[in-house]
This record gives sequence, C-alpha cells and structure tokens, in this order.
Amino acid sequence: MNMFSFISHQFPWLLFSLRDCFCKLFVAAMGTVCHFKPHTLSFHHHHHHDHHHFYPIWLCYVFLSLLPLLASSYMYSDDKRDDLFPEILRDEAVARLNELGKVSDADGYLERTFMSPAAVRAGKLIREWMEDAGLRTWVDHMGNIHGRIEGRNTTSEALLIGSHLDTVVDAGMFDGSLGIISAISALKVLKSTRMLGNLKRPVEVIAFSDEEGVRFQSTFLGSAAIAGILPVTTLRTSDKSGVTVQDALREHSIDLAEESLSHLKYDASSVWAYVEVHIEQGPVLEWVGFPLGVVKGIAGQTRLKVTVRGSQGHAGTVPMSMRQDPMVATAELIVLLESLCKHPKDYLFYDGDSDASTLESLSSSLVCTVGEISTWPSASNVIPGQVTFTVDLRAIDDKGREDVLYELSNQMYQICERRSVSCFIERKHDANAVICDSELSSQLKSAAHAALNKMTGETQHEVPVLMSGAGHDAMAMSHLTKVGMLFVRCRGGISHSPAEHVLDDDVWAAGMAVLAFLETNL
Ligand SMILES: [Zn+2]
Repeated sequence: MNMFSFISHQFPWLLFSLRDCFCKLFVAAMGTVCHFKPHTLSFHHHHHHDHHHFYPIWLCYVFLSLLPLLASSYMYSDDKRDDLFPEILRDEAVARLNELGKVSDADGYLERTFMSPAAVRAGKLIREWMEDAGLRTWVDHMGNIHGRIEGRNTTSEALLIGSHLDTVVDAGMFDGSLGIISAISALKVLKSTRMLGNLKRPVEVIAFSDEEGVRFQSTFLGSAAIAGILPVTTLRTSDKSGVTVQDALREHSIDLAEESLSHLKYDASSVWAYVEVHIEQGPVLEWVGFPLGVVKGIAGQTRLKVTVRGSQGHAGTVPMSMRQDPMVATAELIVLLESLCKHPKDYLFYDGDSDASTLESLSSSLVCTVGEISTWPSASNVIPGQVTFTVDLRAIDDKGREDVLYELSNQMYQICERRSVSCFIERKHDANAVICDSELSSQLKSAAHAALNKMTGETQHEVPVLMSGAGHDAMAMSHLTKVGMLFVRCRGGISHSPAEHVLDDDVWAAGMAVLAFLETNL
C-alpha cells in the first residue's frame, strides 16, 4: 500500500478537506486574476462579464470535486492487490492446521478416530473457529460439527462445504483438516468484510466425524448419516475393544436410537450442493506445477480376492517340468494385471463411439494394485500349495471397469489352465464411480482460476482437471445432492503419512478459491 492509498483508507476526511482547500485557494487566485473578491462568489451573478470570467473556476471546482472519486478508483485498483487476506487465509489457516495436527490420541504421532477423546477435542476447537467466523454451531447425533450462516434467504437451498476431522493412524495433518479450515477461513474473510449476511443462500460447513473408518472399519459414518445411506445395523458394529458405535456416542452423552438415525438425514430439497476441498493425495498437481485442481469424479472400485491352488511339493525333488506351482502362476497373473491396466487398448476391442469414450476414460483413469499376498505353507524349501492375493481395481467409468474385470478373469483362467493350477476369483467389494456435477465443477474451476490470477497478478493457465482415485465424503454426499471437489497440491503426492505436506501458499490458494466461489454466491 502506498502513502496515497494509506491516507485515503485511514483519513478519508483529509481528502475532502484538501479538496476544499484547493478550491478556495484556486478561487482566491482566479479571483485576484479576474479582479474579483472571492467572498462574493456565488451562483447568482449580477454582471454578465463576471459569469464569463468565472466559468473556468467552476470547471476547476467540478474537477476537484471529482478528486475523491478518482482517489476511490485508485484505491480500488490498490485493493485488488490487497484483498488477498494472507493473515486469515494463510497465516491463521496454517497455524490452525498445525494446532489441529497436534490433537492426537497417541503420543508422538497423529491419530484421531471416531468419537475418541482427541476427536472430541478437535471438534471443540473446530466449533470455536466456526463461531469466530460468525457461524451458528451445533453437534449432531453422529458427532458431526456444523457451522451455519443463513445469509439473505433462510429458506433457500443451502450450500454445504465439508471434510472429515478423523484421521488414519500415524496420519498427516492436512488430510480432511485442510477442507474444514479453508472453508472456515474463507467465511471469516466474508465476516471481516461484512459480506457474510449478503450470501444469497445459507452456507453450512460440516466437519464429519468419520471418513477413514479406522475404529469401526466402516467408512463415512458421518457423511453417510447425513446423506441417509448409513445402514441402521452399523450402529451395532463394535471396535476392537467391543465398544459399539452407539456406545461410543453415548460416552459423550449423545443418545442415538436406531429409529432416530433417519432424523440425521438432510432433506434433499433443502440442499443446493456439496463442495469439498481436499489434498490430492497423489503426485499429479505437483507434476504439472499447479497448486489447485478440479476433480471430475471419484473412481469406482472393485476388490477381488484371488486364490490359486497347485501341487505342494519338495523344492529339491520335483523336476521343473512336473510342477504345478501356484507361485509362478500368480507372478504371471500379476504381470498380466499390470499390462492390462497400463494398456487397456491392447486388450479391449470396441466398435461404437460410446465405447471409444469408455476406452479413452479407461486409458486415463484405470489403476490396479496387488497389495496383499500370502502363500501356504510359506517355507523356503517347499513348492507352495496355495497362493492368495488381492486386486484393487479403480476407474472413473463403471462400464469400463466391468469390461476390464471380464477380460481380466478370462485371461486369468486361461493362464491357470495352461499352468495346470486352479483359480478362484471372488468379488469382495464394489463401489460405483461418482461423477462431479459439471456446472459446479466449472464454477469451482473459474473460482480457482480467479484466485490464482489474483495471487500471482498474472493470467494463469487453465486449472487442471483430474480424477480422484481415493474415496471422499463427497462420495456419500452424492446420494443427497450434486457434488464438486477441489484438490490441493501436496508434496511428493504423499498422504496418510506424517510426511504429508502442503505449502503455506497452497493453503492460502485453497482459501482464496473457496472465497472466490463463495463470492459467486453473494
Ligand atoms: Zn481424507
């Protein structure tokens, strides 16, 4: 901020006094030049020739009267550089992330699970920050923390913005927390500029009590309850020490009867959309050198358990040609899986146009992983009798995922037959993909673009669009309303690890993007 705008900000009256001073001086000077006494100056002139001489004086007065207007337009252009709110959107947000990152059930590492003592402390902290941002707050019967501002039209459909406050074991401090804090910070900026009451629809920040599912192995307890898709039996699920979901809530004086679970569900007609900011948890944004990205969808997922059985035997006595070894068969199956998922075009053959787009989306989104393997009897001098392994397969296109699974199992059976071993493929888990709302996504994209332009002072490239391979609360919320997501770059793509890191300036960018998005709702 320069001296001129500092003065115009702090002492606007000074400008007006200056204007008057200038005018009086100018009038005095002109009066002397025109042999006219300034104190007789008035709109009513008795002599025609005086009027002629006074014309430039009035012109001057008009010009000087415009000075504050010119000054304010100058101030406005200066504001464009000043309305970045680094003290709220960066410094305070980063400090809060650090503070929340220390709220843990464990010594020396971060762990907060559903309704654990640390999760309850974190909830209290978040609630304080929500109130500091001018929001009305409450805790619901699933332990979710809500902060809401009604805006101008209390009866309008609400915009929900959220993420989760729970963590994995030995977690990073940005997963979940970043989405909650960037939303609260952006609303705090609106409070500081007195715009909070001008929101055209209610805005509600929700910190979900469980997304990771560490304690009860059931993900999305918080968001699924609000979306109305949580099975009532989940309340009876127990953790390792035999405490059920209901018990865990009761410990904190929350009584959730099975018949009242449905009361947690939001009425779809009262909700406009759900938006979530989350760290990318992958390396793409860092690779393309961009702090923010728009999520086009969350991948659908299938988990398989594959069992391969062969002929167990002595490692020294059975000749190579006579073996039915499930271990080497498994090796071939895993290499096949990698090849198919890397180059689906070499395996799947389509003729129609819609199929071509399926293939296109598979090529860019298909990921397959074998993460768990076990052998029996697992001894160095024994040819294994049995090998089991898992397959985690994800893609943005549900039909494409089915086609890949069909081709995969066909080729797997062929390999097993050629090797004289038997294969059993079990489908353990399926979840359909979630496609983010295209209109909402383009609004988020423009908001992110505007935020980055403002921060850098130059026009940035188009904001990248990417797929989410990880599940998020938005998946559950998509059963209630349209969803949109923004991803924030994280160092090395690392997440679910204490090494998880987001640059201070990227935290700032996230807050700026939420702010820009909220401003489209003013
Ligand atoms: Zn997360």
